[in-house]
Amino acid sequence: VKSIEFFLDEEPIITIEQLKLWKWISQYYMCSMGQVMKAALPKSFLLESETTLVLKEDSIYSQEDLTDNEFLIVEALENKAVLKIEDIISITERKTVMPIINNLIAKDILTLKEEVKERYKPKTENFVRLHENYANDNDLRTLLNTLERAPKQKDVILALFTLRAKYGDFIKRSVLIERSQSSSNTIKALLDKEILVQEAFRIDRVKSNKEKGSELKTLNTDQQKAIDNIKLGFENSKPVLLHGVTSSGKTEVYVRLILEELEKGNQVLYLLPEIALTTQLISRLQNYFKHKVLVYHSRYTTNERLETWNHILDSKESYVIIGARSAVLLPFSKLGLIIVDEEHESSFKQFDPAPRYNARDTAIVLGQLFNSRILLGSATPSLESYYNVKSSKYYLAKLKRRFNNVLMPEINMVDLKQKLRKKKMKGHFSDTLIAAIQECFENQEQVILFQNRRGYSPFMECNTCGHSPQCPRCDVSLTYHKYKGQLRCHYCGFHTAAPTHCASCTSNDLSTKGLGTEQVEQEFKELFPNHSILRMDLDTTRGKNSYQTIINQVENQEVDCLVGTQMLTKGLDFRNVALVGVLNADSMLNFPDFRSHERCFQLLTQVAGRSGRTNKRGKVLIQSYSPDHQILQQVSVYDYHTMYKQQVEDRYQFKYPPYYRMIKISFKAKDITRVQEAANWFYKGLQPLESVGQLLGPEFPAVARIRNQYLMNIFLKADKKHSIASIKNHINKVKSSFESIAPYRSVRCVIDVDPY
Ligand code: ADP
Ligand code: ZN
Ligand code: ZN
Repeated sequence: VKSIEFFLDEEPIITIEQLKLWKWISQYYMCSMGQVMKAALPKSFLLESETTLVLKEDSIYSQEDLTDNEFLIVEALENKAVLKIEDIISITERKTVMPIINNLIAKDILTLKEEVKERYKPKTENFVRLHENYANDNDLRTLLNTLERAPKQKDVILALFTLRAKYGDFIKRSVLIERSQSSSNTIKALLDKEILVQEAFRIDRVKSNKEKGSELKTLNTDQQKAIDNIKLGFENSKPVLLHGVTSSGKTEVYVRLILEELEKGNQVLYLLPEIALTTQLISRLQNYFKHKVLVYHSRYTTNERLETWNHILDSKESYVIIGARSAVLLPFSKLGLIIVDEEHESSFKQFDPAPRYNARDTAIVLGQLFNSRILLGSATPSLESYYNVKSSKYYLAKLKRRFNNVLMPEINMVDLKQKLRKKKMKGHFSDTLIAAIQECFENQEQVILFQNRRGYSPFMECNTCGHSPQCPRCDVSLTYHKYKGQLRCHYCGFHTAAPTHCASCTSNDLSTKGLGTEQVEQEFKELFPNHSILRMDLDTTRGKNSYQTIINQVENQEVDCLVGTQMLTKGLDFRNVALVGVLNADSMLNFPDFRSHERCFQLLTQVAGRSGRTNKRGKVLIQSYSPDHQILQQVSVYDYHTMYKQQVEDRYQFKYPPYYRMIKISFKAKDITRVQEAANWFYKGLQPLESVGQLLGPEFPAVARIRNQYLMNIFLKADKKHSIASIKNHINKVKSSFESIAPYRSVRCVIDVDPY
């Protein structure tokens, strides 16, 4: 039995419901509980290498009592008062140092530094504000009257008023005491009486929350009907899918439902596919709900995440928590409503590392744990969710028209084959597109151009011998980035200077093939030298505020045209964009994935939705070599239902979701034969599962080598009538036998449930 050094936490930092949810995640997505915890907990909760060690002040030891490694550590500690565990790892050159450290603790020589505990609390300041009960003048007057008998308390409230004019609702506790010349006890009395409310905030956070929330908008009849419908679903305890066309006012509907929950004192979780892309939405919600909006995202600093975590855990107050997928893992207590906005987005699914969970689907389970209302929203619902509507698992609500009777943009196809034949192309721009852009500019309107590939061109090719430069670490062509004069690998980040001569035959007759955003930008500049253009893709939005800067410039109409990748499709709301041009729809259609048609429909519909959001009808031009393709035809007339019907028929026939469950098992190793052997061995172990549906593979994926690791995949498609638990059980058994085979230790085996 070891003695306890100190308590890390006086109270649990996680909740029972979290444990239940995490357990579900680890079982459903076939990963360990530790992996889920690691994804869930802010880093500083984890006692990893950041723990510091110190020598005990009164420690007595002699070298003979210590092993070599122990002595190394003690010696290092004597030279340097504090060490981190990672220092110990480098001193001892061992991976597992905890046993050594534990021995030194047992020998009473060393201790984990008490300050470890301090790291749990971010640097915060206590703020107080007036309780909501005294929001209106009448209640306030009554309050001041009752405080006549407690003059000190009244002084505090009066001081609070003067300070509020300057600082907003939240006043630093210390400042308030000083201004009112009162004491901590007086404040405490007011807190006890629930006249004041106290919260710990980081100081820079509070500043932005000065003004009062804006008035809510009056809903139109469509929105009101949608809300009534949504509530009908809620009453039947079903998740509700809100299928509302772009700009139909879904967000205002959410706002209304959020307000109701906050008034009940409940928490609301608002999930978004990518926080970085939704600054517009955050400020919209902050406008209404002020300090009640918390944002949680993995890109935030540890301190910020910790602060939010503690707020949700400790505070008795209601909040709306806006977050990307990891927000489903927070310590909620009275979760009244979960909204999953843009529910069709694939980024709700985590690819790597485990847990490979889909936050949308996890949110459904979370909602069931709390009996909360669940609302999924999209202009282009995923086939999975719509299928759940059709099979009566979900309830459906609709918004069929744009807000304020704004018409849906008019979508037209441009046949690239014909344009080429008639020599009507300038670079990648057809005469039709050029004329439409021109017209926009004449009307002082803005244009969005969509090309779902970054860089200048997807590959370079030698016109003499046909050679095209490949990534040395991956089986894929390098993308040409003209702006930087580089060839870059989009899989591993490898880059090299763009060549002037062919590496194979030394010819200097090199050409570029395919189209990326950089090239669109360049051609635009040549076609419209008097107009400005900005590019929005991964390459231009790496800086912390670069994304926001681009949005601001477009919003303020400082720029005429915006070109970008699928980043453009995500919830942007620009007033003055009258035309959206899609330069080439074909690569999206031909992508080798069973979801590519669905995804193409979604991307094009979403990007089209950026056009004409005010009173004038917007225009969309889609250039393609196959303008008659059924998906493009369905996009052009906004026919979600035909798209849905045809796609789910295909899915049924070829045994794909939503009819079948998929599990992907992949193998990775440096040695190609080792990967093949391992995958084949595993496949044999899975053969008893052939009867549940279909077992495919092992097969090399389209890009068979990434970062010098070869990949092989096995896909299991299981008919939903079979018990998924026993299927997973079988896979887990095969996996543990697999892991005990020595030659396969160098092969990484990754299981992905419901892969994307
Ligand atoms: P969606 O989320 O469906 O794309 P939004 O909620 O962003 O649609 O609404 C589109 C536009 O219409 C926004 O500019 C929004 O402010 C405005 N809008 C929506 N509902 C109302 C309303 N009830 N009153 C006034 N303006 C509204
Ligand atoms: Zn060549
Ligand atoms: Zn690479």
